[in-house]
Amino acid sequence: MIKPGAVANGHIGAIMAKIAEGGFKFKAIRMSRLSKEQAEAFYAVHKDRPFFGSLVASMSSGPIVAAVLEKENAVMAYRDFIGATNPADAREGSIRKLYGTSIEANAVHGSDSDENALIEASFFFNTMDQF
Ligand code: ADP
Ligand code: MG
Repeated sequence: MIKPGAVANGHIGAIMAKIAEGGFKFKAIRMSRLSKEQAEAFYAVHKDRPFFGSLVASMSSGPIVAAVLEKENAVMAYRDFIGATNPADAREGSIRKLYGTSIEANAVHGSDSDENALIEASFFFNTMDQF
């Protein structure tokens, strides 16, 4: 997912180009917007963290771009590719280093397991579709 801050800052095209250069294939793309309730559900695992309210507010603050990506070992490959959660710690040239503006507004989301990738895709896509 390209998060609201990166969309608002005009980085959709640059981020998608970088993802493609990284060898990921786009299997589905959709521009959408999370309601507060959807953002709460999307990040439910973090509901007891001090930053949860602020994260939910920022994730529902504007449009996002959701995508399903394909690559060998895609989940781990993409997490490596985007860089560390905090842009300040992210690898030089990574998406989060280039386009993240804070640990919260870190430009992109990446699923952390195949199981969660399917659950998260179901927020935006009909998972009966053949990706
Ligand atoms: P990741 O997105 O790298 O998997 P986490 O699952 O730990 O990271 O956190 C989910 C999201 O919550 C992060 O991408 C970031 O937007 C936000 N976040 C994480 N840690 C903090 C923090 N300490 N303060 C504010 N926001 C945070
Ligand atoms: Mg995570």
